[in-house]
Amino acid sequence: MTYKENEKKALIEVAHIRKEYPLGDETVVALKDISLKINKGEICCIFGTSGSGKSTLLNQLAGMEKPTKGMVKIGGVPISLLTEDQLAKFRQQHLGFVFQTYNLLPNLTATENVALPLLFKGVPKEKREKIARKMLCRVGLSHRLDHFPKQMSGGQQQRAGIARAFITQPAVVFADEPTGNLDSKTTVEVMEMICSFAKDFNQTIILVTHDPEMASYADRVVKLIDGEIISDTIVSH
Ligand code: ADP
Ligand code: MG
Repeated sequence: MTYKENEKKALIEVAHIRKEYPLGDETVVALKDISLKINKGEICCIFGTSGSGKSTLLNQLAGMEKPTKGMVKIGGVPISLLTEDQLAKFRQQHLGFVFQTYNLLPNLTATENVALPLLFKGVPKEKREKIARKMLCRVGLSHRLDHFPKQMSGGQQQRAGIARAFITQPAVVFADEPTGNLDSKTTVEVMEMICSFAKDFNQTIILVTHDPEMASYADRVVKLIDGEIISDTIVSH
């Protein structure tokens, strides 16, 4: 099925997801019958305490894992049914990721790290590095273009991580505890940066956090307890 960016229906549709993990002789039920619709351009926070199932839900939404039961569609494409190859391609074309631990490649400079998603899209070196430098300037790193990750602070590495996530203008950006390792001032900067990119290009953000401060940046907060949605609230700004 082809991807439809401007479908009238929700951009992300989750129907009756259940996720079980085998653990020794037992089974951990991490998600129980989750159904959810997320619109294009929405900043949606998945909120809950540690162990409530937030990362598990994000992993099913982004196609990183297959649900035990149920279906996930993005842009009308049933990603829970795609093969690994189809999924990898789908992620490159439509999805971006921001990680708690930044996940920059240690042997590449900031510019090379940010340019990486464009390499996978076949953009020539000179062009992709030019776009990467522009992205890095936008996140306030014009003075760190040729630095390696270990030569940058956590906040700087995360800004580079954000530039990398948004460089292909993906329809959806997933962020799992993106400020989990940052101080409160840097947290504000990083969240404002993510929201500003998202609003410019009407992108959808799935933000996973346990921090109520972070949830205040979202348009909507979906709260999980023990693998179940216990509330789904629109945030008034
Ligand atoms: P959160 O991100 O909200 O902290 P998780 O989604 O990581 O929570 O985990 C939800 C539940 O599923 C927890 O009880 C966790 O121990 C369990 N879990 C997560 N991943 C696995 C796994 N790979 N194997 C077994 N249990 C898991
Ligand atoms: Mg988690």
